[in-house]
Amino acid sequence: MTSTLSNLLSLFIDNCPFFEQKCALCGDASPHSGICNSCQDGLPWFSGENCSRCALPLAAAAPLCGQCQRLPPFFDRLDAVLRFDFPLAGLLHAWKYGRRYELSGVMAQIFTRNSVNFGEKPDLVLPVPLAPARLAERGFNQSEVLARAFADTLACPFSTTHLWRKRNTPSQASLTLAERRRNLHDAFGVNPAVKGLHVLLVDDVATSGSTLSALAFALKKQGAKRVDAKVLARAIFSKT
Ligand SMILES: [Zn+2]
Ligand SMILES: [Zn+2]
Repeated sequence: MTSTLSNLLSLFIDNCPFFEQKCALCGDASPHSGICNSCQDGLPWFSGENCSRCALPLAAAAPLCGQCQRLPPFFDRLDAVLRFDFPLAGLLHAWKYGRRYELSGVMAQIFTRNSVNFGEKPDLVLPVPLAPARLAERGFNQSEVLARAFADTLACPFSTTHLWRKRNTPSQASLTLAERRRNLHDAFGVNPAVKGLHVLLVDDVATSGSTLSALAFALKKQGAKRVDAKVLARAIFSKT
C-alpha cells in the first residue's frame, strides 16, 4: 500500500510542472526523468565482444567464454543493458534499499532503451521473484518494475504468479559458484503453464548468473522450450 501511494505520488510529481525534478546523479534540473540526458549518456552501457551465452567479456575470439564451455548455465542467452559499475551501483542501491521509488521510472526507461532491437519476441516475460519477507522489507520487487516495462514495450504477456520462491535462500555474495548452485537447488516453484513457451527472465543485476540459471533449470523442468534472461546490469567479474 505504501509503495502504491509513493508510486502515485511520484507519478503526480513527475507530471506536475510546479515540482522541479533534479537529476539523481548530478543534481541538474531534469524535467522528464530521474537522470538527465548527459548523465544517461555517461552510464556504463554494455558493449564489446561478449560470450553469446552469459555476456561475460571474451579474452579470445570465441563464441563462448571458458566457463560456458566447461559448465554452461541453464538459460540459453543472457543480455545486459549496462555494466554493474560506477555510478550505477550507488543508484541501484538507493532504488532498492533506500526506498527511492521515484527512480523506478528512469530505471525502466534505461532498461527498455533499444528494446525494439530485441531478437525473437518471448511468449512470456517473468521477473525474478523475491521471497515474501524480502518483498515486505523492501516494499517492491525491482525486477517486476523492469519486467513489466519491458513486456509493455514489446507487447508481450507478463506474469508475477508463474514463478515464486519456496524459501528465503541465504545471501549468495560470499559463496563460490558450486556453493551458489547448491544454495539455489529446489528454491523455486514454477507454474506448469510455462510448458512449450519461450520465457524471458528479468532481473536487475546478474553477478555469477546462478540465480537465473537455477530459475531456467526449474522452468525447463516444467517444459519451457527456451529460457533467455535480460538484466539491467551485469557484473563483469565471475566467481569460479
Ligand atoms: Zn545529470
Ligand atoms: Zn559465458
